[in-house]
Amino acid sequence: MHELSLCQAIAGVVKPHAAGRRVDVVRVRVGALRQVVPDALEFCWTLVRDFEGMEHAELELELIAAAVSCRSCGADAPIASRFSVACPACGSADVEITHGEEFMVTSIEVADHTVVESSEGVANG
Ligand SMILES: [Zn+2]
Repeated sequence: MHELSLCQAIAGVVKPHAAGRRVDVVRVRVGALRQVVPDALEFCWTLVRDFEGMEHAELELELIAAAVSCRSCGADAPIASRFSVACPACGSADVEITHGEEFMVTSIEVADHTVVESSEGVANG
């Protein structure tokens, strides 16, 4: 399952940041274009966290809408669907995706509410 390997990759990012401390919260930024089902990701996380000895770690997802920057008309606009990556203003396909491909651990919260910042992308397994 796609989400299971993603959760294993998340755990791989979290563990060195936790450095042996108890992990309470794991915050993950997920772009809309990553084809991740949030419910499935959260379910898989409950399996992986137990296996990895992080039973207390709650997953907090920050969902990022997809957006493009258009080279034809200069529009900077959100797009509704990953199936039509085109400029919503002029219809041009000559666009650069500016948001929606994120998948990263932004921070974790360990024992005593210590927040450990991260900007580490999660490799797509
Ligand atoms: Zn355009």
